[in-house]
Amino acid sequence: MGSLESFRDEVRSWLEKNCPADLRGKTRENLPRKRYDAWVRTLGSRGWAAPGWDTKYGGGGLDRARRAVLAEEMRAIRAPQPTSFGLSMLGPTILEFGTEEQKREHIPKIARHEVIWCQGYSEPGAGSDLASLQTRAVRDGDEYVVTGQKIWTSGAPQADWIFCLVRTDPDAPKHEGISFLLFPMKQQGVEVTPISLLDGSETFAQVFFDGARAKARDVIGPVNGGWTVAKRLLQHERGGSNPEGRARGTGGSRLVDLAREYVGVEDGKLADPALRERIVQYELDSQAFAITMRRAAEEARSGQTGREIATMSKYYWSELSKREQELAMHALGTRGLGRKGDGYDESELLRTRAWLRTPVNSIWGGTSEIQRNIIAKRVLNIPE
Ligand SMILES: Cc1cc2nc3c(=O)[nH]c(=O)nc-3n(C[C@H](O)[C@H](O)[C@H](O)COP(=O)(O)OP(=O)(O)OC[C@H]3O[C@@H](n4cnc5c(N)ncnc54)[C@H](O)[C@@H]3O)c2cc1C
Repeated sequence: MGSLESFRDEVRSWLEKNCPADLRGKTRENLPRKRYDAWVRTLGSRGWAAPGWDTKYGGGGLDRARRAVLAEEMRAIRAPQPTSFGLSMLGPTILEFGTEEQKREHIPKIARHEVIWCQGYSEPGAGSDLASLQTRAVRDGDEYVVTGQKIWTSGAPQADWIFCLVRTDPDAPKHEGISFLLFPMKQQGVEVTPISLLDGSETFAQVFFDGARAKARDVIGPVNGGWTVAKRLLQHERGGSNPEGRARGTGGSRLVDLAREYVGVEDGKLADPALRERIVQYELDSQAFAITMRRAAEEARSGQTGREIATMSKYYWSELSKREQELAMHALGTRGLGRKGDGYDESELLRTRAWLRTPVNSIWGGTSEIQRNIIAKRVLNIPE
């Protein structure tokens, strides 16, 4: 293996060639879906969508120092971060609970972003109380037959496969009869009905199963022991426990630049002193959070994951993200309420859309109320 500096040069020239200007500064949320997927596939073909995973599973096989270099260089040009249900949640879960055969079957397709996954957890009567889920899977030879309904399934209209919580033993206590099952979405017996979001996108859906088929070999972890697997995946979703997971930290909010541009500067200070105070406080909290998350990632790497760090991280990050968008709207004033065709420029429209989208951050992956309940119980030891 060459030196770190030669690796940095290699990353720089690869990014120069493969990450064109129109991608830079963009995210999964504000790029057209096809464009984003193509970018992650390009990264994946180099092993860099999952840089820490073993090369035998299609990962980059990079050590910690090289992963840090890759992350730094991507940040420097503001390349879109590769995230997906597969890369951020399912991959690490299969690597922990899957058999060797399951890893060889599913991980390389996740690492190369060849198969797009969605998450079949929530049901109309099972959101915060997830273990009440009723979708049934009944064994039939080498397969399971799945019947039931999921809701709020992000990305279902585009997904190739679903990781789904199903009830395999209806007579067991509710946490004990659940299995974690993978199966294809494009088959008879799976119907997807899109739901529109406030920002106009249709990335959400209800999913109905009526005799959908799954291979019995695609149960991850023990049959009826899926609750443990499901909870671990939620930790990855909430962030913080997985060193390869999203480096959550807000940072780079650009609120100061935005406020300077739209509110103006008087005597070297932002013209609106109240907004200035709020932005300063936001930036301080955001920096403190980013540092805490870096420390948590270090602890996770050395095997000493803090108690409920994923829960705390999800809670704090989602509340911060809402504050950021509120402040951006405040700075933009009426320019923040744009609609296409009204003479607003693209960056203003993106801000409006981000503001409309952000409230959902304190709902997905478990609401802020639920995260606070967990922190009260497991971190602060407050009796229920
Ligand atoms: C943007 C977005 C994407 C999502 N993507 C997916 C996905 O891909 N796959 C998937 O399976 N699900 C997904 N969800 C669903 C999400 O996980 C659920 O919406 C969430 O867990 C809350 O469940 P619920 O909607 O049934 O609300 P409920 O559980 O009915 O809660 C309603 C309200 O009551 C509060 N509440 C409930 N129980 C308690 C309690 N014990 N103590 C205090 N307050 C309580 C909640 O905080 C909430 O405010 C997504 C949701 C959103 C918003």
